[in-house]
Amino acid sequence: VIRVEDLRKSFGENCVLRGVSIDVAAGETVVIIGASGSGKTTLLRCLNRLEEPSGGAVWLDGTSVGGSLAEGSGVWRPASEKQAAAQRSQFGFVFQRFNLFPHLTARDNVAIGPEKVRGMSRAEARALADIELTKVHLGQHADKRPAQLSGGQQQRVAIARALAMKPRVMLFDEPTSALDPELVQEVLDVMKELAQGGMTMVVVTHEMSFARDAADRVIYMEDGVIAEEGPPTQLFGSPQTEGARRFLRHLS
Ligand code: ATP
Repeated sequence: VIRVEDLRKSFGENCVLRGVSIDVAAGETVVIIGASGSGKTTLLRCLNRLEEPSGGAVWLDGTSVGGSLAEGSGVWRPASEKQAAAQRSQFGFVFQRFNLFPHLTARDNVAIGPEKVRGMSRAEARALADIELTKVHLGQHADKRPAQLSGGQQQRVAIARALAMKPRVMLFDEPTSALDPELVQEVLDVMKELAQGGMTMVVVTHEMSFARDAADRVIYMEDGVIAEEGPPTQLFGSPQTEGARRFLRHLS
């Protein structure tokens, strides 16, 4: 579904991604771990073009994201605004902070995307919102506003909001790190259900229990490159690099 080839990103002198290549297959859950500053968030943001990469390519279902190289001349042609928006909508993004509209109910927070962006009627979009809210176990709370919901519930609304856009891939950027500890598990449980349901997911998280239980593959990033990757049993059981060993020791 996703192919990332030699992705590079610099902010001025600061070289944050120094050649990252990843393939993510349909239905696969890939968890990215690594120390703060290793480039995890930047990688996710380059996948859906919230950040413009400095080099390399991202392919989604065989189509180059963000533009294409003209055949023959090899000149880079950026995607039009419309193409870029369409491609971006193929990625569901769940942030650390949920950023729900405070004045809207959970249902309307989820319905607003399908209505405004996908052109659904209000009634259709709201019916879809109820289905997506039920998937994250919030069917009973559809009429509540964010302030009436816990942080964990709000993050689950944010997941439903992303799902309602019917993305090809879900990207999660430390979705539980802003939550009180007792609210983390309910969000991880919903993410596990999604993974088991066959969603293609790329997840940046410090929750190693999620990586152990739900990841098909774990990627350890260090200084803007993939230092090590493998199935969770391998990466956690017998890390090959000193960096990964140190990082995992530090967590336990
Ligand atoms: P964390 O776990 O702290 O989020 P991370 O591994 O996700 O870390 P990034 O957030 O990708 O790391 O950041 C990597 C580096 O890129 C940091 O040095 C950061 O200061 C820098 N950086 C990220 N975004 C920007 C930006 N918009 N402008 C300038 N520098 C940035």
